Amino acid sequence: MGNYDAFKKQVVDTAQDLTRKGYLMATGGNLSVRIPGQNAFAITPSDYDYFKMTPDDVCVLDFDLKRLEGRLKPSVESAMHAAVYQVRADVNAIVHTHQVYASALTLIQAPIPALFDEQTRFLGRSVEIIPYVPSGTGLLKNTVAKHIRNHNNAFMMQNHGALVFGTDMERAAHNVEILEKCSLAYLLAICSERKVSKVPLAVREIAFAKLRKDQERVAKNALEASGE
Ligand SMILES: [Zn+2]
Repeated sequence: MGNYDAFKKQVVDTAQDLTRKGYLMATGGNLSVRIPGQNAFAITPSDYDYFKMTPDDVCVLDFDLKRLEGRLKPSVESAMHAAVYQVRADVNAIVHTHQVYASALTLIQAPIPALFDEQTRFLGRSVEIIPYVPSGTGLLKNTVAKHIRNHNNAFMMQNHGALVFGTDMERAAHNVEILEKCSLAYLLAICSERKVSKVPLAVREIAFAKLRKDQERVAKNALEASGE
């Protein structure tokens, strides 16, 4: 058993679960989990069938993208994942998908306002659109790093897909499901061409404050674990 085995297994189990549920398709998307206290993360390999994937196929990289473990080529979005972990101490897991309904909203550039209690509690005040930048470029990494400072946990990448965070892997996977439910409901509501109602502002702020409290607790624990 290696030091990173539990993290690598978590990546594979979650990837396969999200594929079974239809949020990940073919080899699209990627996901990672932070290795606590080590400035490192375990991430899916590039262009690799999720159902063929085993923990040995998962790559472990440090934040400079130096390989600590794994023989396959890591995801082309590894730099984006490293940037998220560096900007957001509260984020311990990242899932990037090409899920259909959230992707559809990016095509019409429709950010999702606060529509449901559960959404504001776990995804944040709104789901914003990160402007289009080609995949796997330094520009994407920088653009993402700039947009995620608002403490929200879900974003939509224009003409591309979704980017979802969690305080742990299970939370990140649940957030992917919440985002897709909100995206579908919002698309249907928009199609009716009637006014879309939102949750009251005060309710949104109370839910967001709870989310911030979770994030602050996790970030503080992370700082203590790294001895800073
Ligand atoms: Zn992608």
